[in-house]
Amino acid sequence: MTAIADFPLKSEVHAFLTGGPKKLLIGGEWTPAASGRTFPTYDPATGNALTEVAHGQAEDVDRAVRAARAAFDDGPWPGMKPNERERLLWRVGDILSERAEEFGQLEALDNGKSAGIASAVDVAWAADVFRYYAGWATKIEGSTVNVSMPFAPGAQFHAYTLREPVGVCGLIVPWNFPLLMASWKLAPALAAGNTVILKPAEQTPLTALLLGEVFQEAGFPPGVVNIISGFGDAGAALSAHDDVDKIAFTGSTEVGKKIVDAAKGNLKKVSLELGGKSPNIVFADADFDAAVEGSLNAWLFNHGQCCVAGTRLFVEDKIFDEFTQAVADAASQVKIGPGLDPATQLGPLVSKEQFDKVTGYLREGLADGARALTGGKRWGETGYFVEPTVFVDVKPEFSIVREEIFGPVVATLPFNAEAGVAAAANDSIYGLAAGIWTRDISKAHRTARQIKAGSVWINQYNGFDTAMPFGGYKQSGWGRELGAAGLDAYTITKSVNVAL
Ligand code: NAP
Ligand code: MG
Repeated sequence: MTAIADFPLKSEVHAFLTGGPKKLLIGGEWTPAASGRTFPTYDPATGNALTEVAHGQAEDVDRAVRAARAAFDDGPWPGMKPNERERLLWRVGDILSERAEEFGQLEALDNGKSAGIASAVDVAWAADVFRYYAGWATKIEGSTVNVSMPFAPGAQFHAYTLREPVGVCGLIVPWNFPLLMASWKLAPALAAGNTVILKPAEQTPLTALLLGEVFQEAGFPPGVVNIISGFGDAGAALSAHDDVDKIAFTGSTEVGKKIVDAAKGNLKKVSLELGGKSPNIVFADADFDAAVEGSLNAWLFNHGQCCVAGTRLFVEDKIFDEFTQAVADAASQVKIGPGLDPATQLGPLVSKEQFDKVTGYLREGLADGARALTGGKRWGETGYFVEPTVFVDVKPEFSIVREEIFGPVVATLPFNAEAGVAAAANDSIYGLAAGIWTRDISKAHRTARQIKAGSVWINQYNGFDTAMPFGGYKQSGWGRELGAAGLDAYTITKSVNVAL
C-alpha cells in the first residue's frame, strides 16, 4: 500500500511519481519549462493529483524544434545506417516488454484503465509497433524508373526515386491510449530517419515522459526524440511552427481542423486520425453468442474511449429485442472499479470534463425519448465512473446517434434488410471503422464493400494488427497509420533523372 493508490505499486512507479516534478526532454536533457511552471496530473479513479509535470509552452516548443532541427540537419540520425536505427528501435521494443508492468501501472493511474489490460494490450502492442518498424528501417526503398523522355530521342537516361525522411515531425497524441498512440507515430517516423517532438495529452503525460527515459537508455542521439508536456497551446505552437515539416495528430475532429489551419503558414505535411461513430452491424444469421460478446467489446473496450468504438449497433429486426437484451445483460455484469484493482474490467473515464460530457449525453438521450436497457447514470459517489449504458428506442437524428460520446454508451437501431443497412451505417460525418456479423460470407463481403470506413471487421471487432493500415474516410482523418502504408506519412519521394 502507498499513499498514491489503494493497491500495491511497483517501486519504480512509486519512485517515478515521488521523485519531484517531471521535466521536458529537449536535446537530450531533462529540463524544466522556460516559465518554471508545472501542472498536476490526476488519478481519475480518485480525482487525486499524482505528480507535477512541466508546463511546456511556445518557448519550450521552439527550443525542442531547434534541437530536433539540429539533430536532423547536422546530427547523426538521418545519416545513421538503417540497421543502426533498426537496432535502436528494436531495443525500445525490448525495454518496453521488460518494463510492461511498470508502464501498465503508470498508464492505469494516469488514464484510469485497467493496469492488467494496459500491460497486456497497450504496452505489449507498443513494443510490437517498435519492433515492426525497426524491421522497416532497412527496407525503405525507392525504385528505378524506365523513362521514355519523348522529346529527347536517342538519348539515354538513368532515372530513380529516393524515399527520404520528411524532416522535423511534431507528433500530437490524445489521452485514450497515451503510450500506444505515441508508438504508432514515433516508430515509423524514426524508422524513416525523421526527428520528432512528441506532445502528449494534458490528462496523460506520464508514460510519454517515462518513454523518454527508455529512448535515452536505448542510446538514441540527443535531439532525435524531444518530449513537451503541456496543453493545447503547446500543440498549437507546434502545428504553427515554421521549422516543423510535418504534423501527425490523433484526437478530435475539431482540433484536427485547427491543425489544418495552423499548418497553412509553411504548408507542412499533415496526417490526421480523428473521431468516429462507427457502425456495428449484426445480421440475424450471425453466431449469436460471439456477436453479443464482440459487440460488447466494440463499444465498451477502454470504457468506450476509442476512436473506433462501435457505438451505433445495428441489429436485424428478427433478433433485435433478444440481442439488445443479451448485450445489456452482459454489460450489467461488467466489474467496475479502479484500474489498479486486478478484478476491474471497466475503470473510470479519464477526467471530470469527460465525465461531465458523457453524463450530459446520457441526460440528453433520455430527454430525447431513448430508453436505457441498462445503465444511464454515474456509478458510485467518487471518481469519474459511468455505468455501461445500452439505449433502445433511439431515432437516427438523436445526438447520441450522431455525435462521438467517447464513453461507455451504445445506441441500438433495428434494420430489416441487407439492402438499406449500409446506407444507414454510412449516414455519419465519420468513417473510421465498422463491424459486420453474419455467417453468410457473400453478404459479409458485399456489405464490407459498401461501408465507407477505413477498417471493416467481419465476425470480430477491434481487429487491429500492426501490419494492417488504419485510418479514416470522410471526417475521420487524412492518411494511414500502421503497416507499410504508415511509412508514407513520414517519407517524401525525390525523383532523380540522369542523362547518360
Ligand atoms: P483533443 O483536444 O483533440 O486533444 C488531442 C491532442 O491535441 C492533445 O494532445 C491536445 O492537448 C492537443 N491539442 C488541443 N488543442 C490543440 C490545438 N489547438 N492545436 C494542436 N493540438 C491541440 O481531444 P480531447 O479534448 O482530449 O478530447 C475531446 C474529444 O475528442 C473526446 O471527447 C473525443 O470525442 C475526441 N477524441 C478522439 C480521439 C481519437 O482517437 N479519435 C482521441 C481523444 C479524444 P491537450 O490535451 O493539452 O488539450
Ligand atoms: Mg491523468
